[in-house]
Amino acid sequence: MRRVSSPSRVERLARWGRPAGEARFVDRSRAEALTRLEIETVGDLVRHFPFRYLDLSDVRPLIKVLPGDELTVTGRVHRITVKRPRPRLSIVEVAITDSTGILLGVWFNQPYMADRFQEGEHVAFAGRVEQEYGFLQMKNPFVEKLGRAEGPSYLGRVLPVHRTTEGLTTNWLRRLVASAVDDVADVPDFLPVNLRMRHGLFSERVALRAMHFPRDMAEATEARRRLAYDELLCLQLGLASRRHAITVERPGIAHVIDGPALARLREALPFALTDDQVAAVGEILGDMKSSRPMNRMLLGDVGTGKTAVAAHALAAVADTGTQAAMMAPTEVLAVQYAERVGPLLDEAGISWALLTGSLAAKPRADVLADVASGETIVLFGTHALIEKDVKYQRLSLAIVDEQHRFGVAQRLALRQKGTAADMLVMTATPIPRSLALTRFGDLETSYLRQRPHGEGEPRVSTRLVTKTHRDAAYEEVRSAVRQGRQAYVVCALVDESDALQARSANAEARRLQREVFSDLRVGLLTGKMTPPERLDVMRRFRDGTVDVLVATTVIEVGVDVPNVTVMLIEDAERFGLAQLHQLRGRVGRGQYPGSVLLFADPKTDESRTRMKAVVATTDGFVLAEEDLRLRGAGQMMGEAQHGLPELTVASLINDADLLDLARADARELIADDPHLSMPEHIPLGTEAKRRFSDAWTWVSSG
Ligand code: ADP
Ligand code: MG
Repeated sequence: MRRVSSPSRVERLARWGRPAGEARFVDRSRAEALTRLEIETVGDLVRHFPFRYLDLSDVRPLIKVLPGDELTVTGRVHRITVKRPRPRLSIVEVAITDSTGILLGVWFNQPYMADRFQEGEHVAFAGRVEQEYGFLQMKNPFVEKLGRAEGPSYLGRVLPVHRTTEGLTTNWLRRLVASAVDDVADVPDFLPVNLRMRHGLFSERVALRAMHFPRDMAEATEARRRLAYDELLCLQLGLASRRHAITVERPGIAHVIDGPALARLREALPFALTDDQVAAVGEILGDMKSSRPMNRMLLGDVGTGKTAVAAHALAAVADTGTQAAMMAPTEVLAVQYAERVGPLLDEAGISWALLTGSLAAKPRADVLADVASGETIVLFGTHALIEKDVKYQRLSLAIVDEQHRFGVAQRLALRQKGTAADMLVMTATPIPRSLALTRFGDLETSYLRQRPHGEGEPRVSTRLVTKTHRDAAYEEVRSAVRQGRQAYVVCALVDESDALQARSANAEARRLQREVFSDLRVGLLTGKMTPPERLDVMRRFRDGTVDVLVATTVIEVGVDVPNVTVMLIEDAERFGLAQLHQLRGRVGRGQYPGSVLLFADPKTDESRTRMKAVVATTDGFVLAEEDLRLRGAGQMMGEAQHGLPELTVASLINDADLLDLARADARELIADDPHLSMPEHIPLGTEAKRRFSDAWTWVSSG
């Protein structure tokens, strides 16, 4: 029976929220199975999308199937064979036939597969067709049982395959899903109709039905497009709204961008900026000049010269008569700023100071006093910058380097030391654009792709080294030291661990000093050492009294000793691509080219592909895209604090175009109707907040 009046949104949400246990066909045991699938409501059931489809709409007779085809075939199980050609090898072959031909499904070392089939039953195999010994075969095909009786009824259709669990057959799950989709089918679409028209999208109800039960694959694709757009739009609305709250609703400081300090700084720079640097400086100063608070991210590989760009922003602050804070994730890096940017600021007549956790009480009090009085214009430092007793006279610019090492809260804490201060975050982690727009969608972006020394061949070569060539690799270190150069040895662990079979920095430092480089001076740098210990070894390494520095990834972040030309990375397969890339950026920074040797024992195809990629490519953004493809966004950003919203339909790899549409639409909507309070936007706003409440709560905290 059709309803005459359309149900309200309240009704709609109520129906989505009904317990799945109350849905049609769900008895106690099915309800338990659903719980195991984390399906609690009718809405969860509706959003339990198939993870693949078997396209039976156009099943080819086996005689028409060719090697190289990737498709779904059907047939009856003719014979099941288990072969044991060698003691450690078993091969299961399941031959299926139709009236025209025969095809083998083949499984290696999965003897239980033989028990999964019965002769005579009707099955579908999906996979890539190969030909061996004159037979068509599929290795490890995806299998769907079509059943004895009902099998043929699926022909001519696309069969969705939903993830299921014990106690719930795929057929039953399909029935439950179909009924749940019917249940919510007549609720009104939350997407404003003009957006649907603009992008030619299915209505929500058509999309939900077609996502689960498409008539053909083209329909499944269209359904997915609509649902992926929904997801991206809802997320981008949260980000756009957050951006609006930060940059539009509060007036910020309009900086002076053509003053004398900036002119002196430009004078003092010992080099001409690259085109990318010029563009980035222009974008940043443009933001700073505006009375809208800046919210920008500067992305650039190690060595692309982000610091020089940042220095321009600092000078504009000096010309404005306000203050800037520049926060680094480690003390080593904060000290490096002071040492490298400090002299430039001195030349430009801009006062600065350094504040770190290891500063003694008296000098610390002096620094704080000068910051509070406004005497000090630029303050470099670590987390120490956001401590309670640090009070600025008038902070108008917060720069956060390697922001992925800080949480959102810490970024905010620094910004809130000022009133609507401009914010610039910098990162050397080459984040793929799609990821940046999702994870940091509230930020504008500036990219540095060129390297100042970048002309000609890459300055760092990367090689994969097998275990048997360890001695040759050590010889390379020795020869570099003989020529007056230095080397890093990077380990994945600080201490030995029983659980993780990998070399530790502690043990390697001892072993190398005793057994391998007894004639050289070996140092150790790990995150577990105290800051003074770390600074001490860094100083000795920089002075050249340490030849070989054994370290963990603490050196990944910005450590800069131009005399280092060789880096050995132990257990390289344990590192992410972006991380390996960051690490190798630590060598060859001076006048000598660098050489990176990866000791790796990749055990999976994925890690082999990653090792090959890092050897083959020197472009950080290309590697980052590859990392995203291979490992997914969560892994790539580091599980602990990746802060990525969960996307269930949209893919950051394949939906880049849709992401751009959604982002533009979201910004337009929020510009017109910042709180989505117009009648035609209310359902959309409710849906967006329901899905990504995090993205919206930032607004209130930001
Ligand atoms: P990042 O912070 O992006 O890793 P840095 O700002 O430390 O890079 O710059 C790397 C090195 O290149 C530094 O020694 C810096 O002085 C130098 N540098 C930066 N910009 C230029 C340029 N335009 N021309 C020449 N050298 C540059
Ligand atoms: Mg401004």
